[in-house]
Amino acid sequence: MTESIIIRVAVPSPLRRLFDYLPSENNTRTPRPGCRVKVPFGRRQVIGVVIEIAASSEHPATRLKPLTELLDDEPLLPETLLELCLWAAGYYQHPTGDALSTALPATLRKGDTVPRQSEVRWQLTLSGKGLPDTALARAPRQQQALNLLQQQPSATKDDFQRQGISIAALRQLESKGLIESLEFRVNTPLFDPDRLLSESPLPLYPEQQQAMDSIELHGFHAYLLDGQTGSGKTEIYLQAIEKVIRYGRQALVLIPEISLTPQTLDRFKTRFNCPVAVLHSGLTDRERVLAWDAARTGTAPIVLGTRSAIFTPLASPGILIVDEEHDGSFKQQEGFRYSARDLAVVRARMESIPLILGSATPSLETRYNCEQQRYTRLVLSCRPGVARQPRWQPVDIRKAKLSGGYSRELIDAIQSHLDDGSQVLVFLNRRGFAPTLTCHECGWIANCLHCEARLTVHRQVQRLVCHHCEFRQPVPPRCPVCHSIHLQCLGQGTERSEETLEALFPDFPVIRVDRDSTRRKQAMQNMVDRVHQGEPCILLGTQLLAKGHHFPNVTLVAILDADAGLFSPDFRAPERMGQLITQVAGRAGRGDKPGTVILQSHHCDHPLITTLTQQDYATFSDLLMAERKLANLPPFSYLALLRAEAENGQLAVNFLSFARHQAEMLLPPAGNISYLGPLPAPMERRGGRFRHQLTICAAERPALQHLLATLCPILEQSPMAGKIRWSVDIDPQDMS
Ligand code: ADP
Ligand code: ZN
Ligand code: ZN
Repeated sequence: MTESIIIRVAVPSPLRRLFDYLPSENNTRTPRPGCRVKVPFGRRQVIGVVIEIAASSEHPATRLKPLTELLDDEPLLPETLLELCLWAAGYYQHPTGDALSTALPATLRKGDTVPRQSEVRWQLTLSGKGLPDTALARAPRQQQALNLLQQQPSATKDDFQRQGISIAALRQLESKGLIESLEFRVNTPLFDPDRLLSESPLPLYPEQQQAMDSIELHGFHAYLLDGQTGSGKTEIYLQAIEKVIRYGRQALVLIPEISLTPQTLDRFKTRFNCPVAVLHSGLTDRERVLAWDAARTGTAPIVLGTRSAIFTPLASPGILIVDEEHDGSFKQQEGFRYSARDLAVVRARMESIPLILGSATPSLETRYNCEQQRYTRLVLSCRPGVARQPRWQPVDIRKAKLSGGYSRELIDAIQSHLDDGSQVLVFLNRRGFAPTLTCHECGWIANCLHCEARLTVHRQVQRLVCHHCEFRQPVPPRCPVCHSIHLQCLGQGTERSEETLEALFPDFPVIRVDRDSTRRKQAMQNMVDRVHQGEPCILLGTQLLAKGHHFPNVTLVAILDADAGLFSPDFRAPERMGQLITQVAGRAGRGDKPGTVILQSHHCDHPLITTLTQQDYATFSDLLMAERKLANLPPFSYLALLRAEAENGQLAVNFLSFARHQAEMLLPPAGNISYLGPLPAPMERRGGRFRHQLTICAAERPALQHLLATLCPILEQSPMAGKIRWSVDIDPQDMS
């Protein structure tokens, strides 16, 4: 036991604990929580974040090392953010140091300082001033540079380079003592509160107004803004944000994907005449740290980002908004498995500010929280302007003759909408040409060598591709087993559907939108622009089409295959299917023309399909809710999934059996806690490893939390843990 000043540091390490250090030997200043420090860790020096200053350590002083260096005078992370990271590390059973690094841009994690927004400008020195125009006639570039500086007080490197003047020429002038370079702090554009808006807000229709009036902007409140696509949710966000900025605070807005929905960002930039910091995965390190710092210092009143932006420090937070709160992308599926949507609730409470969760298809968890009166549900039931809902038309394809997946009814409908000059959207959530390649003679199927999965045929690149591990191989000319040349593609992917549509409707363009066709930058935007020109066309795509885009000229939406979600082993699959179908359907008929949605299914009389098509999403989700309640699944219980995988599957099973045994000793199975497993994962082999899982189901969160907090360190220290890969997933979204 040591008593003195102990600095407790979160260090990037897989160990789930903090590490104690003594103050630095050559510096008497004690760092404050939230400052970065360089510390010895094993044989390395690493960058950590100070979590607390303690008076004693459980380790003897002789075993504690001093800090190497204090990197920040002022905390980089505000207190609530530190608190949020610690909370999240605890809740998701993730190492604190690693959780904290999510809150720091890469350059700061490496120990760099926050870059000043500055630029280097060149100006004349005293001796450079007043030289005759021909002083350097033998060095024309240098003369030209002097001339430029005689016309303007200072110039940047770019100004010179535009005139063909190189840095070398500037250096020569500098060595002659004629010019000098200075670093100028770029003035952060202060916005004028009187000119905050660059367009006027829309007058709200009564339901919107009612929702707006219900949103209390002081103190913590959570709201669900439940309104179909186009009902005016974004307008409410914009107006709430305006109020928040006017009293000097910032808004943090989370959206599922920025690159695919640049128009969301456009809406913000069109409305507000103030800096908007944007944080997403496509930024360079420098862009990221600058945007992060604009949020942290309050220069940017609006911060818009994807999942990890929930960890952005804010100088004066005023409101949190999570758009499309049901979207799966808010849950990180690997490493630090946090849910940004759920952390938004925690953060809003810590910051004492309101939170708006918006969705056309709210998750069952969020609806349940409304029913429990933890959140307030605000409903927008109609679309501004046009009040017409799309008309649903299920098509039973049980015995129907299909051409490339299309029923006669669907083909006729597409033709007639195109002939009317409208656009058609076809939804097929499977990319590639065909999901299976098989031998007609012997029945061989092209399986992935590393996964328990079939290879998808990608005809454009002439490859078989595994969608789970990215394994690829050329399409074989013959069956590898019987050498027959009669290989067949089975099933439909978007590439194949594109061919079918082009053959069926040769007079109309087919625009395919999937991960393959949008790989290039701008590709998505180009396609969206083409559709917005309004000419009749067929838009064919995967779930990328369900997100955020508004296609006013689309009057027919076709869902080729609604059945995949009905019989999946994943209990969340029907919910995801319903959300996707509803979101896709919401793209239709936004203009003055009403929309039709044709849904092909082998199970048109399945209650989930009939409620979705004859009633609405809310009734559909009531049905799911009742099923979950019967099965005691979330949101009526809380799950943790322990996953283990290894090349030798038995090692994974042994580890999980050990985990279950330990867990049962800590908390024996009873009415409020149950264990399931170890069982093989739905996809038992992936990337060459065998995967198993143990599910822990609890009636209450605290019991589960308590159990895991004790269990995880035991597992971490078990010798078995080193031989396999294992992870804990709290509130898992994807059970595969
Ligand atoms: P959501 O976010 O729910 O999809 P939006 O806020 O994007 O809905 O609104 C859909 C469309 O309706 C947008 O073009 C928007 O400009 C328009 N709109 C929203 N509210 C109003 C209103 N009160 N009056 C007129 N048009 C509105
Ligand atoms: Zn064969
Ligand atoms: Zn694979």
